[in-house]
Amino acid sequence: MKLKSALIAVSFAALASSACAEDKILNLYSARHYQTDEALYANFTQQTGIKINRIEGKEDELLERIKNEGSNSPADIFLTVDAARLAKAHELGLFAPVASKLLETRLPAHLRTEDWFSFSTRARVIVYNKGAVKPEDVQNYADLANPKLKGKFCSRSGSHPYNLSLMASIIAHQGEAKAEELARGMVANFARSPKGGDTDQIKSVAVGECGVTISNTYYVARLLRSTKPEEIKLMEKVGVIWPDQSGNGAHINVSGGGMLKTAPHKESAVKFLEYLSSDQAQRYFADGNNEWPAVDSVKVANPALESLGKFKADKLPVKNLAMYQSKAQIIFDRVGFK
Ligand code: FE
Repeated sequence: MKLKSALIAVSFAALASSACAEDKILNLYSARHYQTDEALYANFTQQTGIKINRIEGKEDELLERIKNEGSNSPADIFLTVDAARLAKAHELGLFAPVASKLLETRLPAHLRTEDWFSFSTRARVIVYNKGAVKPEDVQNYADLANPKLKGKFCSRSGSHPYNLSLMASIIAHQGEAKAEELARGMVANFARSPKGGDTDQIKSVAVGECGVTISNTYYVARLLRSTKPEEIKLMEKVGVIWPDQSGNGAHINVSGGGMLKTAPHKESAVKFLEYLSSDQAQRYFADGNNEWPAVDSVKVANPALESLGKFKADKLPVKNLAMYQSKAQIIFDRVGFK
């Protein structure tokens, strides 16, 4: 009996909260935190009168938190980085489909799904030591498996979303057998076991501990913009290659997010997603992390990124990246790319 009345109380509370669903509030769970955030969020509040409550945390922790909060989660929007993580949130059934004409018009089709959207892009590039590796030997991801590079390749972990997504794109384009061959070749070329992040790899390449690595562009840009004399020196030692330029183009990944199925403020949530596709928000979103806006017509001036030259970007739909995540992990496990 006691339990039954407790249940009734809960359902009344749920009703009450959905009745106030249109409170001018947005609960944002974000794994992105940059200097441009203040302006990005303040402008939304200014334009809509909707106040943003921000919960910030690490990508996997936030996802775990939303999962654990279940139907009681106050989260309206989950923002995170990499298609691998967005795909995981989708697979867990956390996102609600959003039908927005505005998002459909603003965001290129390959950068959106029915329930999560990309708001900025980054590429995964090849970084090599100019004294140890010839640029013509590292023009494509497939070159990283060439025995010529034995003992020269360094990387962060194979279980990391950035590498899983790259592998997923190779599976999508060339099939599992080719992808496995590449992964196996990369492992055979390791200078050391995978450790550290992309920045660590670039630095190891610069000091000659490794000859070549792969990195997201914003880590390269961050180091190129560094004012620390030692980092400026390091970056003089490395070259950056846009991979697969005569093939599918450089692997592109994204930052993005979606509205949660249990969002208490769905109207605010859709407005926020739409706001993120506006010219102004796109600029803040991209600039915050040395990325490119997802909306084609929005341009940013980033001298570090521009110094890398023009490139052909892979237009593989982010949905396909999501599709091959688990296959990518199986391949890495099989070849010992830890
Ligand atoms: Fe990162």
